[in-house]
Amino acid sequence: MSCTKEMSSTEEITITPSYYTPKYNNNTKAYEDKYIFDFSHGIICPCTGSTYSKRQSFNSHCKTNIHAKWIQSINTNATNYYERTLELEKTVKTQQILLTQSQNELEQQKSIVRYLQNTVNEYIRNNNNSTNSTHFAADVMNLNLLDFD
Ligand SMILES: [Zn+2]
Repeated sequence: MSCTKEMSSTEEITITPSYYTPKYNNNTKAYEDKYIFDFSHGIICPCTGSTYSKRQSFNSHCKTNIHAKWIQSINTNATNYYERTLELEKTVKTQQILLTQSQNELEQQKSIVRYLQNTVNEYIRNNNNSTNSTHFAADVMNLNLLDFD
């Protein structure tokens, strides 16, 4: 059987094509090819990485050996994919916690910077005539940063 691949040019497709995913059949407990409603943006089949912009060429592709073996390998590895999904869910949750912690730390740092800016501005206002930078540095060093916790 011949496989006609439609490699879409950039003139035909201006929006990024979407990746094809087979559907899970609850009755057979297996993944199988599904009907594609919209080819207007193009469909990339992960088994070859080729883009299809016409139903006929995609249907022909689905009948090829390489595509059938790909579907088969998805079914063979379905359990592994499930385990991998659970692992990834755990990773995402951990990263969300880390992200929240980082955002909180950032907000804390920002408020320290704001406080220091205000303190420096106040110092400059109060010592407008002073040009003694050594005193200024010493006073800044004496700020008690532990007050921010
Ligand atoms: Zn394929």
